[in-house]
Amino acid sequence: MWHTLLRDALDCISSPRCPRCGGDGPARGSGFCAACLEALALPEGGVQGDTPLLWCAVAPYRGALRSLLLHQRPLPQPAVITALAALLHRCSATVLPGALLLPIPSWKRNGNPLPLLLAQALQQAAGPTATLAPQLLQRTRPTVGQHHLGRALRLCNLRQAFAAPPPQGPGLAWHRRRRPLWLVDDILTTGSTALAAAEALQGAGWAVQGVLAIARTPL
Ligand SMILES: [Zn+2]
Repeated sequence: MWHTLLRDALDCISSPRCPRCGGDGPARGSGFCAACLEALALPEGGVQGDTPLLWCAVAPYRGALRSLLLHQRPLPQPAVITALAALLHRCSATVLPGALLLPIPSWKRNGNPLPLLLAQALQQAAGPTATLAPQLLQRTRPTVGQHHLGRALRLCNLRQAFAAPPPQGPGLAWHRRRRPLWLVDDILTTGSTALAAAEALQGAGWAVQGVLAIARTPL
């Protein structure tokens, strides 16, 4: 009996569990189990576009993925963040070598934690040639919540809301500015926030390529 208990205890410790449902065995190459992957209904290869800037996301923001992200914002779970970042890595792996990864910052100190956590996990998945660079972008002033604003008001709300301080050290600065820079966010809605961030960075000479997100609100 003791052998059985010991084996069960070891199985609990060593067997990977799905971070969404707690069930057995994440599917091969994914942090989630087969049933959760089916529920999340992720399109093969993710979704991409170029409006209002180049973007790549794991899936449209709806259904089970929307519910998962809404639950993660107030209380992020490291295993879920890692699994989501692995999915994002799967659809953006070709652009990550040598990239700077910049999570879009919140104005409030205790704002949305997901962009930074996802960028950290994505850097881990991408390996040492990708660099986390949150220090390159700052919020300059408070903005009102975006969710109830239309596109025109969002652009107005975000005008000059970001600043990109010039890099320190002349030689290093110019070398680093040539590296492809990708913004990282959890949800891409109209893209107004990402566009305002990209404009501030481009104005400071950084080579912004676009934005990587977990979900994109269907247009
Ligand atoms: Zn599951």
